[in-house]
Amino acid sequence: MSEQQDETTTVPPGVALARLRMLPSVDEVLNHPELQRVIDDVGRPRCADWARQSVDSLRTSLVRTNGNFDRKDLLTQAVRATAEEYEARITSRLGRVINATGVLLHTNLGRAPLADAAIDAVAESSRFTNIEFDLATGRRGRRGADVERLLCELTGAAAALVVNNCAAATLLVLQTLAAGREVVISRGQLIEIGGSYRLPDVFAASGAVLREVGTTNRTRLADYESAICEDTAALLRVHHSNYRIVGFTEDVPIGPLVELAHSKGLPAVDDLGSGCLHDLTPFGLTGEPLVGDSLNCGADVVLFSGDKLLGGPQCGVILGGRELVDRLRASPLTRALRVDKLTLAALSATLQIHAAGRAFDQIPVLRMIAAGADDLHRRAAAICEEVKASSNHADCDPVALESTVGGGALPAQTQSSWAVRLPSSAPQETALRLRSGRPAVVGRIENDAILLDLRSVLPEEDQLLSQRLASL
Ligand SMILES: *Cc1c(COP(=O)(O)O)cnc(C)c1O
Repeated sequence: MSEQQDETTTVPPGVALARLRMLPSVDEVLNHPELQRVIDDVGRPRCADWARQSVDSLRTSLVRTNGNFDRKDLLTQAVRATAEEYEARITSRLGRVINATGVLLHTNLGRAPLADAAIDAVAESSRFTNIEFDLATGRRGRRGADVERLLCELTGAAAALVVNNCAAATLLVLQTLAAGREVVISRGQLIEIGGSYRLPDVFAASGAVLREVGTTNRTRLADYESAICEDTAALLRVHHSNYRIVGFTEDVPIGPLVELAHSKGLPAVDDLGSGCLHDLTPFGLTGEPLVGDSLNCGADVVLFSGDKLLGGPQCGVILGGRELVDRLRASPLTRALRVDKLTLAALSATLQIHAAGRAFDQIPVLRMIAAGADDLHRRAAAICEEVKASSNHADCDPVALESTVGGGALPAQTQSSWAVRLPSSAPQETALRLRSGRPAVVGRIENDAILLDLRSVLPEEDQLLSQRLASL
């Protein structure tokens, strides 16, 4: 752009007119063989819009820029600009990405990848499905009944409800249980997470009044106790899902918080965030609260996301006692926040895997967490061999590094991992080429190399990844 501006002059009107006659028409551009594939994909009217814009901007530069122009050259330029617009649109379409960032639940890459069975279930229910139809009786059935039963069986909860995401779950719970009244929460738990979720804003939208107690780093049971008054509607605990408070700290565990709430006749709400059903300490990850523990401690309502450690689709799970969950179900907000059949299908398939005891074999995020470093090393080495054998990247090597779970779970904890290291004199450009191909590959840039962490890549994707690397 700046180069063009440097050349900007006033072209004499006669010259400009002669040049304008050489401009291709929109039809000429559209009839160019190179744009046939574009028209096949997006249709002629949309392609014509882009061709018109291309011709328009050529027209502007013709009357402003010095240089020689010829008819054929102008046509080629207009065709190229039209094709570039198309390529830009394609890149911004939702498409498959190989996540080689080492962040397993990457918010910008769609958090949890679905299990194969969940993907099949989505396809299966995409047409007509018995979402609110009881096939046994031929009568109307209740939406979500199957996943609610599975959730109760898996967690021991008495009742369950599924909404659009955990933010929606929080909004629904606050509005139903506490609109116009106070909810007591520790100052250290007023979280903000990705995608502009800020807990105080959710409170404001719900009509519940936030009653902060304690300090950022220390909150004691007595702080909650002295804040309870006749306006109090509930006590809320929110898991620090993406940060850690370390050093001189004190926090009240859910057990004592529940006891205090119950002694005052109040419900205790636990926003767990990640929805971890299984102990992850065997994989070196500690401190993630378990759904079962929270329920066992007597929490009246437990909330979590479906697309974090549960490894399912985006949704918000609410667990609790019958009466409370029925009150939530009866709220008009519930209709607005409900999930669609595709989400229910994916969630049902995901929960069935958990219930069958196959989570660490079949739920992608749990498989990734459970992968041993030796295994990741072997895969990295095999990919490097393949890339070396089929391309001129002789300098590609396995390298050890650390990966994180991300996505609002296990903050500041890492696992040992292995990456494919691809040295590059222009790493930004190489990264762009990796992102631009299909499937797109997203890794990390470190100094003069691209690092592709294999912990967040499924073994089934290794072949595709090798091919993308070899074709650079
Ligand atoms: C992730 C998270 C949320 C928001 O969940 P979404 O499903 O993204 O709406 C709320 N609370 C906590 C503690 C979380 O970790």
